[in-house]
Amino acid sequence: MNDITAPGLQAVLDIPFYQPVGNECALFEYAFRNRLPLLIKGPTGCGKTRFVAHMAARLARPLITVACHDDLTAADLVGRHLIGDGQTIWSDGPLTRAVRQGGICYLDEVVEARKDTTVVLHPLTDDRRILPIERTGEELQAPDDFMLVVSYNPGYQNLLKSLKPSTRQRFVAINFGFPPADLEQKIVMAETGIDAMRAKQLVTLVGHFRQLKDHDLEEAASTRLLVYAASLMQAGCDPVEACEAALVEPLTDDADTATALLEVIKATF
Ligand code: ADP
Repeated sequence: MNDITAPGLQAVLDIPFYQPVGNECALFEYAFRNRLPLLIKGPTGCGKTRFVAHMAARLARPLITVACHDDLTAADLVGRHLIGDGQTIWSDGPLTRAVRQGGICYLDEVVEARKDTTVVLHPLTDDRRILPIERTGEELQAPDDFMLVVSYNPGYQNLLKSLKPSTRQRFVAINFGFPPADLEQKIVMAETGIDAMRAKQLVTLVGHFRQLKDHDLEEAASTRLLVYAASLMQAGCDPVEACEAALVEPLTDDADTATALLEVIKATF
């Protein structure tokens, strides 16, 4: 596969912009071509969703994304009978649609989903690649161009909510972190159009904030928040106010921590 890293070229090809950080694009494609499911681990806002959207477009497969939550059941993924006009009709869930279409199904924050979802994920993620639909008696054989991608954030450190080894060992896994400073600067510039100097200031600032993680902040400042700050600045917002709104308030409710972060921002701009 050609390495498509230039934002302009990606835009021309109608591919969502994604700045590769390592070999993740090649790995994704190997997994796809070899019918292997993929697990992406990483903190919130580090580019997991964008990466999957980018790869789905590059591989020209439809993408079906499910934001998992703690009420999400196997039936929500597979489908259910709906009653209307006095009759019962079967309605495919997102996972079944992706299997039928030969698409990429992305289960975001899969650890949030109910445990009964493993019943449908396990037969799909071993060499059988089948989706049993208990309620209709069907058993779908996934086509070669179906791929299951799941993600989760190990940083929440919720032991009850980590994946069981019997589930995680069915996936090829990639670990995402925040991009190195030079690439993160490129991302912020490509996403917002902000100039190189401002982008560099923001990335440096966030680098300082990330060192505070584990001390004062529950979660590290993400690339997503960095992009928000740059967007506000590009729209004409004062840099200190933009950073307060995008990089302080979303990260902490603690007044002392917020004051300390604001001091670092004021020293930067
Ligand atoms: P996650 O799914 O990990 O929570 P996203 O994929 O939604 O995070 O990323 C959040 C935002 O950060 C994206 O909308 C995009 O603006 C930006 N971003 C992060 N990493 C990248 C990257 N490598 N290339 C392009 N944009 C990125």
